[in-house]
Amino acid sequence: MHYVNDHLAAMTGYCREDLVGEDVKMLVPPRLRDMEFMVRRQHSIDPNTSFIWSDLDLTVLCKDGSELSVDFAIAPLALEGKSWVLGAVRDNSAQRALERARADVELRFRVAFESNMAPMSFTDANDRLIDVNDAFCQMVGFSKEELLGCDSTMFTYPQDVGITEETLHRMIAGETEQERYVKRYLRKDGRVIEVEVSRAPARDAAGRILYFVFSERDITEERLLAAQLSHQALHDPLTGLANRALFEDRLAQAHARVVRQGGIGAVLLVDLDDFKGVNDTHGHFVGDQLLTTVANRLEKVTRATDTLCRFGGDEFLYLAENLTSRDEAELLAERLIKAIAEPCAIAGTSIEQHASIGIVVWDATSANFDETIQNVDAALYEAKRHERGHHVVFTPSMHQRAVSRFALVQELRHAFQAGELSMHYQPIAELATKVVVGFEALMRWNHPDRGWVPPNVFIPLAEQSDLILELGYFALREAIVEAGSWAGLGTGSARPYVTVNLSAHQFLDPGLVPTIKRLLAESELPSELLILEITESVALIDIAETMAVLEHLNHLGVGIALDDFGTGFSSLSYLAALSPRIIKIDQSFVRPAQESMRNDTLLETIISLGQKLNMTMLAEGIETTTQFSRLRRLGCELGQGYLFSPAVPNGEAVAMVGQVFAG
Ligand code: C2E
Ligand code: CA
Ligand code: CA
Repeated sequence: MHYVNDHLAAMTGYCREDLVGEDVKMLVPPRLRDMEFMVRRQHSIDPNTSFIWSDLDLTVLCKDGSELSVDFAIAPLALEGKSWVLGAVRDNSAQRALERARADVELRFRVAFESNMAPMSFTDANDRLIDVNDAFCQMVGFSKEELLGCDSTMFTYPQDVGITEETLHRMIAGETEQERYVKRYLRKDGRVIEVEVSRAPARDAAGRILYFVFSERDITEERLLAAQLSHQALHDPLTGLANRALFEDRLAQAHARVVRQGGIGAVLLVDLDDFKGVNDTHGHFVGDQLLTTVANRLEKVTRATDTLCRFGGDEFLYLAENLTSRDEAELLAERLIKAIAEPCAIAGTSIEQHASIGIVVWDATSANFDETIQNVDAALYEAKRHERGHHVVFTPSMHQRAVSRFALVQELRHAFQAGELSMHYQPIAELATKVVVGFEALMRWNHPDRGWVPPNVFIPLAEQSDLILELGYFALREAIVEAGSWAGLGTGSARPYVTVNLSAHQFLDPGLVPTIKRLLAESELPSELLILEITESVALIDIAETMAVLEHLNHLGVGIALDDFGTGFSSLSYLAALSPRIIKIDQSFVRPAQESMRNDTLLETIISLGQKLNMTMLAEGIETTTQFSRLRRLGCELGQGYLFSPAVPNGEAVAMVGQVFAG
């Protein structure tokens, strides 16, 4: 080096004297010395080049061993007839560090962008795509090549194009710096997806938009799941109808509207009359299909403003809004009943259903959900007391009756414990001889204030709870013990049998057969003198189970009487399978509301049917000698009725054993 300035000395940490006269190599780290000479060599190839900055990064070795990154320039210089090279160095370490940092950041962003799981894209100020990542391509199903240069209409669901445009305008106008919105995309394969988009502009120092950054999320499945979950929470899984919770909510809304705007609405409680039988006879699969069919039919006649709900089991609730009158609610009920009554073809069989409906008409003053349900339930109870397919509108007196029904059940429990229940016996006579051959045991409640409460009132109440089992076993025990004491009475004639009524619940109770066995073993009554009365509907609840129970009873020697015959609709094949010892012809045939040829024929037909099947026919409710004579003439073997005697306490029954009725 021939000459060095103070700057170079200061930069390298040497004194000028240290440098002058030394080879320039001392300022170059040994590992880079070759490069240095390359630069010089290049220059010597073309000595005409003027002052040039090297595009190579050079490094200067300082006195203390540290290195400095520098820009380096050389220029040829002719001085004092000699050829020199003028070299200049400039410390660029700060700038290099900045560049490195920038490259670093850029790399980091690129990686973050390209391999991000979240679909991302950039658009220019006109919303044309300038970059997209893989996740974005996968989401919309287009390749990067297809996408770049296009705008989002290419993959936006046509109806949602406006959403993007609107946000663009708002961002250009500077109204917002960050937008989040949901829109539908139409993928290349035609599938529609829902996407949550978040979008922000990048602006220059002057506030002009450079580009937009989008980050997106496919929320199709999430939404579907959320919708399913909320649907599940509010709908019945079998029928897809609203459930109780949703109904309650709708009723509250409807009520709020009526409070604001006036008017009336109605709640209808629809209950299938014959569902339990179907479920038990044909199985739950058919039962479920029947419910679905019924739900569909009800839905078809449901008005758009109304709500239909499955309330549980075979009960449906219907919320009717904007009614003009109570009559309109009744018309609605008729429409629903009619829709259900059409026979349903399910699993190869035609099933007929009827529905009873309770109706509550409500207005702004009406009370809450629970009370509405209570009332509509009370109205349904009244409807069910009529023939099938009936509807009844709630009146406050029904509430009273419901309350007293409830009170009665409570009382019945106490009455049972207090010994207010007892069995009475109604004689059964052989029509040909008028000899008493048996007794039907009928339960009586001697209420301290009300007097005799008829079983038609309290048995159905007990049937709604387990109380019926206790009452039923009480009846069996009493009848078996008391009939056991009839032995040896009535000289000459055969010992009378006793018939005991069984409820469905009791007939299907697993404890029935063992209990009867035990009671018989403890009593004086031979098992052949015990006959259990069941109705057709009880027998049909579960045919397989019925047959099993009957076989056990048969084994014990206990007989069966088919009660209220003619009121159900059992088939002849069932009748043959049950082969009851006695068939009890229902009172409605014996004492028809009107005398008519048709009724005569019916009675005749029933009796001759029994004879053909070799079963003993018993006519119930004979009140007049005319009825008696006709039955005897038709060949009916047995009869009971007020003509002979009503049911009487055991003491009086004992006196009738072996008796021949006069007349
Ligand atoms: P059901 O088994 O059909 O009993 C016949 C009913 O007709 C009895 O009414 C009897 O008193 C009445 N009756 C008898 N002869 C005549 C007549 O000539 N004319 C009229 N009008 N009625 C007559 P009750 O005792 O009031 O029993 C009503 C129903 O209560 C019975 O109908 C039976 O289903 C049920 N029930 C009675 N006792 C028991 C019982 O111990 N257990 C069960 N599960 N049910 C019972
Ligand atoms: Ca009976
Ligand atoms: Ca009967």
